[in-house]
Amino acid sequence: NFISAVVPPDEIGVKFDDIGALEDVKRTLNELVSLPMRRPELFSHGNLLRPCKGILLFGPPGTGKTLLAKALATEAGANFISITGSTLTSKWFGDAEKLTKALFSFASRLAPVIIFVDEVDSLLGARGGAFEHEATRRMRNEFMAAWDGLRSKDSQRILILAATNRPFDLDDAVIRRLPRRIYVDLPDAENRMKILRIFLSLENLEPGFRYDELANATEGYSGSDLKNLCIAAAYRPVQELLEEEKKKGVTGTAPSLRPLKLDDFIQAKSKVGASVAYDATSMN
Ligand code: ATP
Repeated sequence: NFISAVVPPDEIGVKFDDIGALEDVKRTLNELVSLPMRRPELFSHGNLLRPCKGILLFGPPGTGKTLLAKALATEAGANFISITGSTLTSKWFGDAEKLTKALFSFASRLAPVIIFVDEVDSLLGARGGAFEHEATRRMRNEFMAAWDGLRSKDSQRILILAATNRPFDLDDAVIRRLPRRIYVDLPDAENRMKILRIFLSLENLEPGFRYDELANATEGYSGSDLKNLCIAAAYRPVQELLEEEKKKGVTGTAPSLRPLKLDDFIQAKSKVGASVAYDATSMN
């Protein structure tokens, strides 16, 4: 569907505390979005403090952009509408005008609201020259017109938060409408440690588990890669137990799994590697 989710703030279930690292990004989003949405009266005087209408989160896949968007809606007390660029198949294109109007009038009624546009490059990508599909162009223009048409009263309480792994593919006109661009980076060792602590907080770990060694051994891993690595590592004691049972010819022994060791994670690296090599240095 065109809209993939509509969730009220108290049902989103993700807060900034559930996101490891990215402290600067969280602080910036709080200033730009949560505060104006929660305290609009502080932003209605003068010209300097104006709520931001559009923000772009860009960076490698799996670094938590979607998670940040959801948590931001919780923090801002805003409804969360999510649309995904790539799900817009040609069957929708004939209805470009109707759909965008419906989206924005729906959003006005739900304000304060964050409209999260994931894979924004698919929806609002660069002009494709002579070969661009007429319908793609129409969709992009309709979307931008509806966005520009937000009444100023609404614009304080409706934020377009877009995300992409491919910022270079975005149309200039779209970039201009997203005046704040925030790079969501791969975590460094210290931040990997913070993320790992969140994923492993409820697990049975060997005493003195060396988070620092695991963080050092996972250079290049995104938050999403780290999660997959933890899942793969957590399987190892289960697998051992099953093999043990098979050897003994018994099943369903009261299972007591051994604690997870650093080595489980190191071994799991052969199954889950770092998924991206990324360079966003030419975008700022
Ligand atoms: P994509 O660009 O591929 O859509 P993304 O940047 O939107 O990726 P998410 O979908 O937010 O990434 O992250 C995928 C999963 O990875 C999350 O659901 C979460 O479990 C985990 N994750 C990623 N980064 C973090 C983080 N900093 N803290 C906690 N979990 C994280």
